[in-house]
Amino acid sequence: EPQTPTATRRVLVAKPRGYCAGVDRAVEAVERALEQYGAPIYVRKQIVHNVHVVKTLEAKGAIFVEETEEVPEGEIVVFSAHGVSPAVHQEAAQRQLRTIDATCPLVTKVHNEAKRFANQDYDILLIGHEGHEEVEGTSGEAPDHIQLVDGLDSVDRVTVKDPSKLVWLSQTTLSVDETIETVNRLKERFPTLLDPPSDDICYATQNRQVAVKELAAECQLVIVVGSQNSSNSKRLVEVAKDYGADASYLVDYAAEIQDAWLEGVTTVGVTSGASVPDDLVSDVLAHLAARGFGDVQEVESVKESMRFALPHELRKDLRAG
Ligand code: SF4
Repeated sequence: EPQTPTATRRVLVAKPRGYCAGVDRAVEAVERALEQYGAPIYVRKQIVHNVHVVKTLEAKGAIFVEETEEVPEGEIVVFSAHGVSPAVHQEAAQRQLRTIDATCPLVTKVHNEAKRFANQDYDILLIGHEGHEEVEGTSGEAPDHIQLVDGLDSVDRVTVKDPSKLVWLSQTTLSVDETIETVNRLKERFPTLLDPPSDDICYATQNRQVAVKELAAECQLVIVVGSQNSSNSKRLVEVAKDYGADASYLVDYAAEIQDAWLEGVTTVGVTSGASVPDDLVSDVLAHLAARGFGDVQEVESVKESMRFALPHELRKDLRAG
């Protein structure tokens, strides 16, 4: 079988990739809470959608639960980066739980937009993926005013009270291109549809898509490190294929990369979702280097410097020592 000459094999690594400011903050919140209060610390839902991060925190004493009712009364519970509906805050208060809210500030921003438009009696079309935790949390802010629009097909099913009071909002981790398509379709039906006051798709989601677009056309294969339930990671696979990669796969760990994927490939692109620690990308690069892909170049498209302060309820206790 003919082998690709080693000299022509290379890897292009996208930058920015991996951890965003919201994930960094959420993971650090759990770590600092474990140090400050001791194990166990309960976390409602996966703190961020990454298998490795969840396992690592479990090993340090975090206990992940689906609902607050699973948390013993009086204990500490952390809410995940994806946000929660007001009903979840109420349940936690009823059970006398101490809460640390690690909702990403950029998700909170969308909650605030939803509340504001609902108070003005707007119909809100929330573009997002059915069943995703973020969508459940945002919808819970104003269930009577919010309709989910998941994909182009659902555009035709939208029913509206008053088209002159209609706005769209979105999940933070969508494909930018697909969202534009959905909005255009919605505007064909409702020309008076109002845009959100600012981008709901967050800077990190947008930048990671820009970065993978930059290298996809040069790659026969793009490997995206991320978990199956990570919305922004899955979008990177789709964007890579749309922008010229012949194939793209989502992997949690380097060991999932199949040798067959590399057959005949000269350029591999590598990136990672916003919930992925960079160690996992280093493992992928080592795996590829061991298979002749040792020439690694980073392709930087956008500079990022965003940071968020830790949740205030935690900062207060950290200051107190
Ligand atoms: Fe926040 Fe965006 Fe990161 Fe989600 S992907 S945690 S919205 S910065």
